[in-house]
Amino acid sequence: MKETRRNFLKNSALCGTVFFAGSSLNISLANNHVVSESDPQAKALGYVSVSSKDGQACSNCALFQPEKDEIGGCPLFGGKKVASQGWCTAWAKK
Ligand code: SF4
Repeated sequence: MKETRRNFLKNSALCGTVFFAGSSLNISLANNHVVSESDPQAKALGYVSVSSKDGQACSNCALFQPEKDEIGGCPLFGGKKVASQGWCTAWAKK
């Protein structure tokens, strides 16, 4: 009985560690899919995650491909997502 209990505790600790590692990996993978202002391509295009241009934002750009949670695709950034409130120098009226 003691051995079973010890194994249960050991396995529980192991599961917790694996779950935590998996959660951290998911968070970092999710963050990798959103364009950062420090991304070389973003710098080249002057991308900002919050537009300061009146009436211009990714959400009303012809290239924006809206998705959920205020992000969307942009062909200029490959598989990475941009913020709907973002902006870059390639902005084009929808
Ligand atoms: Fe946003 Fe620029 Fe892409 Fe337009 S081209 S959706 S402004 S990042």
